[in-house]
Amino acid sequence: MRDSHNSSLPGEEEKILRTPAFDEAFSAYSSDPPKFLDKILAESINLSSSDILFEPREEYVEVRLRIDGVLYEIGKINQDAYLQLTSRIKVLSSLDPTEKRKVQEGQYAIRDYQGVIVNLRVEIAQTTSGELIVIRVHKKETIVMSVTELGFSKVALENFQNMLKKRSGLILVCGPTGCGKTTTLYSTIAKLNESEEYNVMTIEDPIEFKLEKVNQMQVAKEVGFTFADGLKTILRLSPDIIFVGEIRDRETAEIAVESGLTGILVLSTLHAQDSVGAFIRLLDLGIELYLLKSALNGIIAQRLVRKLCLNCRIGYQPTQVEVDFFQKVIGHPPKQLMKGKGCSACQNLGYKGRMGIFEVLPITLRVRELLKSGVNEEELKEKLGKEDFFVTLLKDGLEKTEQGLTSFDEVIKNSLRVV
Ligand SMILES: [Zn+2]
Repeated sequence: MRDSHNSSLPGEEEKILRTPAFDEAFSAYSSDPPKFLDKILAESINLSSSDILFEPREEYVEVRLRIDGVLYEIGKINQDAYLQLTSRIKVLSSLDPTEKRKVQEGQYAIRDYQGVIVNLRVEIAQTTSGELIVIRVHKKETIVMSVTELGFSKVALENFQNMLKKRSGLILVCGPTGCGKTTTLYSTIAKLNESEEYNVMTIEDPIEFKLEKVNQMQVAKEVGFTFADGLKTILRLSPDIIFVGEIRDRETAEIAVESGLTGILVLSTLHAQDSVGAFIRLLDLGIELYLLKSALNGIIAQRLVRKLCLNCRIGYQPTQVEVDFFQKVIGHPPKQLMKGKGCSACQNLGYKGRMGIFEVLPITLRVRELLKSGVNEEELKEKLGKEDFFVTLLKDGLEKTEQGLTSFDEVIKNSLRVV
C-alpha cells in the first residue's frame, strides 16, 4: 500500500505539483516576468512552502518548491526572460543586479492573501548553468506556535514544562538541521516571555525571525564574533533567559553550563542523534560529568513528520512488518494504522502540515542516580528504556501513528535517519 517515493529520504524525493494558479503564472513568464514572480510567490505561500528554488540547467530553469520538507517540481522556464527575473528579484531584495560572481544574500517582505507579512530570504549563487536562486519563506506563525501545539505527548509536555519551571539551568534540543529545533525554542521563549518580565537575550546564526521583547544578536564570523563571544557579552548584560543558537565547541559549552549553574535559564541546540547522544557529546566536548548532572535540566530530541491530511485519511490493514515492528518497540500490535488517500485539500499528497515527534529526557533525581555508575551510551539507553517517563523518538512516533496523526513510513524514515 506504500508509494515508492515514501521509502526515500527527505530531499531525495522528487514529485511534480501542478495547480491552476501555477499554470497561470507560467503562461505569463515570457511576456511579464514580474507578474510571473508575484503569482509564483503568492501560490507558494498559499501552499505553505518553505523554499522556492530557481535552478538553471543547460537548456532551461527548473522551478521547485519545498512543502513539508519534500521538494516538488512546479514547472520549467526557458532562459530567455531569466535575466529579467533575476534582476527583478535582486532589486526587490536590495542586491546588486550587476553582481554575478559573488554569492549574494538579501531579503524583502510581502503580504499573503490574508494580509500577513511574510519575510523572504533570498540567496543567489552562480552555478555552471547560470544563477541559482533560493527564496526561503518565513511566516511568523509557523515559527512561533503555542507550546501545546508543537506535538508533545502528555507525558513529554509535563516533563518539558517541569524543566522550564526551574528558571535556571540548561535545556538542550537536538536533532538534524530542519527538524524544528528553532520552532520549539522560539515558541518556548515566547511562552516564557508572555507571563513575566524577563531580559531574554539570544546569540544566533542566523537570526531566523525577530521575536517580540527579545534582544537578539547575530554571530558575525567575518569579524570573529562567535557563539562564545556572544555568550560572554550577554552575561555582562544581566540576562534572565539566554538562547544560544548552537553549542558546537568546548568554550560555548563551558560558558553555557556555568551560566546555567548561576541562576540563568539557558536554551540551546546541539547536533546529536538523540537525547543520550547529546549528553555524551557534551562529555566529549570536555564538560565534567558532575557539572553536567547539576547544570542540565533536560534534553529534548526531535524530528518533524508530515501529518496525514484529515480530509482524506483512511484506515488500512497493517502489514506483518508493521505489526512486528510495533510489537518489538511498544509491546503490542498497532490498534489501527492510517494513510492519506489524496484529495483536493492536500493537492493529492495525502499529507498536510508537519508536527514534531519528541524524546524528552528530564535530568531528574532518578536519572542522576542512573548516571552514578558512569556513562556508557548503550547501557544508559537500556536503563532508561525501563523507565516509564522516558519515551524514545521512535516510540513517540509510533504512538502518533496509532492515533492516525501521521503514517508509519513517515515515522520510520524520520526517526531512524542518522544525523
Ligand atoms: Zn487530503
